[in-house]
Amino acid sequence: MSIEFIPNRFQGQTAIVTGAGSGIGRATAIRFAREGARVIATDVVADRLDQLTADFPDLDITTLVGDVSLEDTAQALVTAAGGTVDVLANVAGIMDAFLPLAEIDDATWERVFAVNLTSVMRLTRAVLPGMIEAEHGAIVNVSSEASLRASASGVAYAASKHALNGLTKSVAVVYGPKGIRANAVAPGAVKTNIEAPFKSAWAQERLGPLMAIIPTFAEAEELAASITWLASSDASNVNGVILPVDGGWAAI
Ligand code: NAP
Repeated sequence: MSIEFIPNRFQGQTAIVTGAGSGIGRATAIRFAREGARVIATDVVADRLDQLTADFPDLDITTLVGDVSLEDTAQALVTAAGGTVDVLANVAGIMDAFLPLAEIDDATWERVFAVNLTSVMRLTRAVLPGMIEAEHGAIVNVSSEASLRASASGVAYAASKHALNGLTKSVAVVYGPKGIRANAVAPGAVKTNIEAPFKSAWAQERLGPLMAIIPTFAEAEELAASITWLASSDASNVNGVILPVDGGWAAI
């Protein structure tokens, strides 16, 4: 796989990227920065952010360690951006051990919703006033194949990502007239550090065969390419879309 960068595509813009220490978030932060953006990169794992800036000392990447599900982190990110946020990429997310409804515990349910959904609501709420004032902004959320079908995760993850699609469309419709676009990618399987063990024997028996149809395991950079495209002016008339980036899984 060879992906070309587009020099200066985001020159002069500021992009916040969550989950930037690993996987899709890291690839997205690197791509925005390589294409000229000033990137505010956040993750809950400090070492990974240190590695990101060590690997790319020449790129304009500011890191902020924090739990993106907390309001304090959302406010700190807006402060770190220090002005207009042109792009918000809500990438951070966690899985749910494929737990089905009869086996889900409250802590897993609440944590998955906090990270996959509430964090996006809080951070988007924090950046929207600036975007509304600027009459300009692109928000790209990272949803999942599990937002399109029930066979790709447990119940908490599926429900949180279905809800994230609704959040994305709501923001698109309500704030489109203010010059703000909100879209999401729905990745299929991607080679990252996300933990996805089956902790339910029944879920493994039921979902395992259904997941055998997955056509490809993508590289994180392929998702970054779609995320940056949705954030770019080439997607100026794309708003409220949930874009499967899954090698065709959604079409099966
Ligand atoms: P990843 O490699 O685990 O990267 C996600 C990063 O976000 C990790 O460093 C993670 O830290 C961090 N993070 C987790 N919770 C956080 C929080 N509360 N605040 C700040 N950072 C936090 O995972 P990925 O596969 O790139 O996932 C990125 C997004 O893609 C997620 O929204 C995921 O649901 C979605 N997605 C992934 C796949 C896939 O196959 N990989 C498929 C569909 C959708 P920890 O390691 O400590 O959790």
